Amino acid sequence: MIALKEIRKSFGRHEVLKGIDLEVEKGEVVAILGPSGSGKTTLLRCINYLERPGSGRIRIGDVAVDCGHPSKKEIHRLRGRSAMVFQQYHLFRHKTALQNVMEGLVVVQNVPKEEARQRSVELLEKVGLGAKLDAYPSQLSGGQQQRVGIARALALNPDVILFDEPTSALDPELVGEVLAVIRKIAREGITMIIVTHEMAFAQEVASRIVFMDDGAVIEEGAASEFFRSPREERTRQFLRRMT
Ligand code: ADP
Repeated sequence: MIALKEIRKSFGRHEVLKGIDLEVEKGEVVAILGPSGSGKTTLLRCINYLERPGSGRIRIGDVAVDCGHPSKKEIHRLRGRSAMVFQQYHLFRHKTALQNVMEGLVVVQNVPKEEARQRSVELLEKVGLGAKLDAYPSQLSGGQQQRVGIARALALNPDVILFDEPTSALDPELVGEVLAVIRKIAREGITMIIVTHEMAFAQEVASRIVFMDDGAVIEEGAASEFFRSPREERTRQFLRRMT
């Protein structure tokens, strides 16, 4: 489903991604863990082409981009294959929950309005917000706003959903409701890559863990193995700090 090959990205002289290789199968849930500043968010943003990698290759489904020489058309197609759930939700403030979910369907995918509306209502019901269709972001809690963000990502019917620390901006009491929604859609077989600091959640929901440090993948493996018997010293240190 997804193949990243030798992805490199620098900001000025600082090389933040030092040749990342990663493959994700259809239906897999992969959690990316690692210390702050190790390049996790940048990697997700590169997959979605919110950041342009300096070099490497990205393939999602049947769309492949050579990041050294990308064409605009390929980038556009690649972007259409993934959807991002952001730390800070990134909702349109002047649009209702329903309008936020409909927006991408109507504007980007040219879905007829009534059909887009119906699908968006169903998705908001799925994330437990059937009673909040006409609420504006300012009238919703952080957890509810993030659930709108998840419904919006689902609406685009992407090959993969990229979660960038989806609960890190939330008050502790609101984390659970968002994790519950992610857990629910993970069970439906949607391919997901999740950057998270929630170790227990990663262990439970992810089939595979990728551990990054200093711009490189240090270790990866099945979630059960990874937490029980990490192979690398850097991984062990990280886990000792986090748990
Ligand atoms: P993580 O998600 O693992 O915390 P990030 O991908 O956010 O790490 O950041 C990795 C490194 O890249 C950090 O040193 C960060 O300061 C740097 N970085 C991220 N985005 C930018 C940017 N837009 N400009 C300059 N440096 C950046």
